Amino acid sequence: MTARLYLSDPYCQEFEAVVTEVRGDWLVLDRTAFYPGGGGQVADAGTISDLPVVEVRKEGDLIMHRVPGHGRSVGDAVIGKIDWARRYELMKGHTGEHLLFSQLSRLCPDLHLVKISITPERKSLMVNGPLDWSVVAQAERQAQEAIESCLEIKERIVSRDDPLLSESRVKLERIQEDDVRIIEIGDVDRAACAGVHVHNTKELGMILVPSLTSAHPVADLEVEFEVGDKAIRKAMDLSVAALGASDALGSRPQDLISALENLLRENERRKATIKHYEMKALADLVPSNIQGTRLYSGLFENMDKKALIDAANRLVKEPSVCVLGSAGDNFMLVIACHPDIRVDCASILKRTLEMVGGKGGGKATFATGGVQGRDQAERCMSNSIAEAIKEIERNMHI
Ligand SMILES: [Zn+2]
Repeated sequence: MTARLYLSDPYCQEFEAVVTEVRGDWLVLDRTAFYPGGGGQVADAGTISDLPVVEVRKEGDLIMHRVPGHGRSVGDAVIGKIDWARRYELMKGHTGEHLLFSQLSRLCPDLHLVKISITPERKSLMVNGPLDWSVVAQAERQAQEAIESCLEIKERIVSRDDPLLSESRVKLERIQEDDVRIIEIGDVDRAACAGVHVHNTKELGMILVPSLTSAHPVADLEVEFEVGDKAIRKAMDLSVAALGASDALGSRPQDLISALENLLRENERRKATIKHYEMKALADLVPSNIQGTRLYSGLFENMDKKALIDAANRLVKEPSVCVLGSAGDNFMLVIACHPDIRVDCASILKRTLEMVGGKGGGKATFATGGVQGRDQAERCMSNSIAEAIKEIERNMHI
């Protein structure tokens, strides 16, 4: 059995131990401060007798350390050193996870914790259940209050039938041991856990939720969070971004959301207006009569691609030909004809666009393509219309 120093003293950074077993690269020690990972928190890194520990894992009541090239034998004394900066951040992250989820589940009792991820790079909770930014922000504020209240974090070992468990976050079916280790954060949370935690919430300094995103298909949502210095730096970055956005919108930071909502509403209104006039412009097209065949043509300013294609399809339901263009940042061309009119739309379009370095394709009755920039729009339109007229006239004489 390996004595687990990380449980009895989570602040132990360096320890002496004796090798009790050697399995190739793996060393088993009589005692260790290396946390083997668990509860979503990754295993520790560090050294044993100055050699890097590249993996730590738990096997029954043994803790195994993979130390390539260790050259040690059973009975050798070794010195273990934990990569403390990394571990301390993970401990704070893990404690932050307890605190944040306890507040989320207090506000949202139906919330189900699916997965925890505590790594040096990223800390998050994946949850199922109803959750939105307003609840997350409230939980974040409450967790921050707990941090500022400098609450002590204590452990209690209780039996499986202890009444305390009814007031704790615990999944007894997942615990194999006879006793249950409960972690208490002041009087705000009590949860079963076999991990490593700090002794006082003040060590976290700050907790921040910078993102709430879909976690599909693993869970409904992922709540990312940061603690300590990283939370402070992230808050500063987000603050700069929010102030920049406020400046760009010409609003006060506290009015940013309502200013943005107004802008989005205005944008929707403008889109509807543009669509109305686009439809009207297309409906008002008057065809030319080319020896009895109707030819619709028009060059529009920045017309929506779908509106242009829909209009072409609609116009050629009757025996007619249409050449429609839209000039915005780029030029787009649609040529279409009724199947009874033998005009090869794809060939006309190809020849026209090749002339200006554009691309496109389609079939005899419908073709679409475009070219970068709008400089050649008029030239493409007049060329396509001239070619379409030529083909209509030629067909009349066959
Ligand atoms: Zn824990």
